[in-house]
Amino acid sequence: MNYTKTKCVVKRKAKDTDETLCFSQSRMSHPHTHCHPNRPKRYPLLSFWELPDYMKDNEYILRYYRANWPFKQALFSLFRWHNETINVWTHLIGFLLFLGLTLANLMKPRVVDLVEHFTRSFSLSSEKNVSHSIKDLFMGTTLLFDLNHQTPLTIELESTALVIARWPFFVFLGGSMFCLFSSSMCHLLCCHSRDLNLFLWRLDYVGIAVMIITSFFPQIYYVFLCEPHWQILYLGGITAMGLFTIATMLSPTLSTSKYRAFRAMLFCSMGLFGIVPAIHACFVNWSNPRRNITLAYESGMALSYLTGTLFYVTRIPERWKPGWFDLAGHSHQIFHALVVAGALAHYAATLQMLEWRDSYGCDTLQ
Ligand SMILES: [Zn+2]
Repeated sequence: MNYTKTKCVVKRKAKDTDETLCFSQSRMSHPHTHCHPNRPKRYPLLSFWELPDYMKDNEYILRYYRANWPFKQALFSLFRWHNETINVWTHLIGFLLFLGLTLANLMKPRVVDLVEHFTRSFSLSSEKNVSHSIKDLFMGTTLLFDLNHQTPLTIELESTALVIARWPFFVFLGGSMFCLFSSSMCHLLCCHSRDLNLFLWRLDYVGIAVMIITSFFPQIYYVFLCEPHWQILYLGGITAMGLFTIATMLSPTLSTSKYRAFRAMLFCSMGLFGIVPAIHACFVNWSNPRRNITLAYESGMALSYLTGTLFYVTRIPERWKPGWFDLAGHSHQIFHALVVAGALAHYAATLQMLEWRDSYGCDTLQ
């Protein structure tokens, strides 16, 4: 352990409590500083120049860094202001949002069973007439959490007698949660030690790759439901590409800041791979009444991800005014927010696909 002399300065006396600011004189100092024997340790925030080399990633963010903090302190810094606070919370909130959506969707089958039981007590002929009017009513609207959507779906299922698998939908939800949670934990705990830092960044990149791969699953599965050879080809292709990306990301060298553009290129090429099945899907499902709304959501997703990547690579706006966006507004926070927005847009598009397949099965006539 490399302990160095630390200087304690009483910055100002406010009311009864004196706020003590500790800072280290040495660049490599360990932050085990005791300013007062009875006061709990408060680890100082450092400037970019005081950081150990492994933490020097963005030279345009100048202050409020944590470095070499004990695990417990790093964990509780969730509730403290530093330059990673918003990065942690943006993806933690995103994770909780997707967790809520997953639980709501997992509870759906029970709702379906209840509604089915209820509807069977009515005559089938009157049911069918009602079902079409309800279906038309719900066709153009997508509510993210609305379990009542099951009402028209259940009735329609009886006529098509085809139960559409849910697992690709949950694969996407699981992949999104894994990405958002690992990213959040990475930003929270990467200040602990060099080894954990390197491991967590690699985990973060793996999380992004997993999210991209799993995002393809429901779309490809539901669009090509009735053409299994395309299903297998596209799902196999994106999985192979994703596994290659993950294997590459696990290399410690490629997770350094030097390879930022390379990583972005790899992720973008995975995303762009989706253009082939997307164009194919448009041809296959051109007569799908939900085509326009699905395309609108997917365009929103693509725009969010591409804009986010642009911020990630260029490090705008902090490169224009170094030090101005240390706590709030820097590129990585914008990137995080756009990732959550893109994932939500994709979720909405996936719901459209799922409900369309639930309603029509493999019927091509709409
Ligand atoms: Zn991040």
